[in-house]
Amino acid sequence: MASGRFAPSPTGALHLGNLRTALLAWLFARSSGGTFLVRMEDLDRVQASAEHEASQLRDLEALGLDWDGGVVRQSERFERYEAAIGLLTGAGLTYPCYCSRREVREASAAPQGEQLVSYPGTCRGLSLRERARRDGEGRRPALRLLANIGKVTVVDDLLGPLTATVDDVVLRRADGVPAYNLAVVVDDAAQRVEQVVRGDDLATSAPRQRHLASLLGLPPVRYAHVPLVLAPGSGRLAKRDGAVTLADQASVGRGARAVCTLLAASLGLADGNELVAPGDLVAGFDPAGLPRGPWTPGAWAFDPDKHDKSPEFVAPKKINLEE
Ligand code: GLU
Repeated sequence: MASGRFAPSPTGALHLGNLRTALLAWLFARSSGGTFLVRMEDLDRVQASAEHEASQLRDLEALGLDWDGGVVRQSERFERYEAAIGLLTGAGLTYPCYCSRREVREASAAPQGEQLVSYPGTCRGLSLRERARRDGEGRRPALRLLANIGKVTVVDDLLGPLTATVDDVVLRRADGVPAYNLAVVVDDAAQRVEQVVRGDDLATSAPRQRHLASLLGLPPVRYAHVPLVLAPGSGRLAKRDGAVTLADQASVGRGARAVCTLLAASLGLADGNELVAPGDLVAGFDPAGLPRGPWTPGAWAFDPDKHDKSPEFVAPKKINLEE
């Protein structure tokens, strides 16, 4: 049994990639008899909104996903994150950092193949006097972790060993908002999440999150990073790619059940000829059989002119995963 969660940022409508990840996270949890939680990662108050949260929850429900208990919002949990920061600071494991994003980018020579920009530790050795001078200039510092560890390896349930440099991650941003890596670790432990299922664009964050959890004395979670949905001919899915959200898909004649079937077929969990709901997929769900690479649907998935508009239409008889 492994309790799981889906933790979207309510900064826009969920697209097919988010929905596919949510379906997988739900299947991992439910097929093992575990609980499934939804957490809104709404720390970014500029982009996050109650409207986006409501639309995301509606879409999860429409797809046929359910969750246990109420929806947790990170914006309501600042005191938990501050308590964790207090623990790390008390142990001498934090320091203020005055670098701008640009300074960090310019100072770090990210090793090839590493997606994340590693912080080179510019402010680690600042003296009290140097800190006071920057404070005096009115520069507001972020707070960083003194990681002191180098590389950490986490064994992912789908990807196998993931090794990444654990740098001095930001714990609290210069504007006072707790940082993603800290909040996610605190919340997964507080919510007793056992397995984190999420998009593989976050795979390189797992080693730093595992390290943070261990410094905080929190139990390690398991990870399963799942492949992304990519737009035909380009990278990440974006609005300009056409019918990428559930509402867009409805407007080209494909209802939520048909979208669920399309996603299931793309994962090899359904043949695409008969409509399926998430509950139909639980019994036969086997993570070992999941595709390991990204899915790029053909233009037919997005373009109203390129597909049959009958409500029963799901996908071409045989979905070509390489398409
Ligand atoms: N909030 C993150 C996102 O929407 C996911 C974080 C996570 O699952 O750890 O991409």
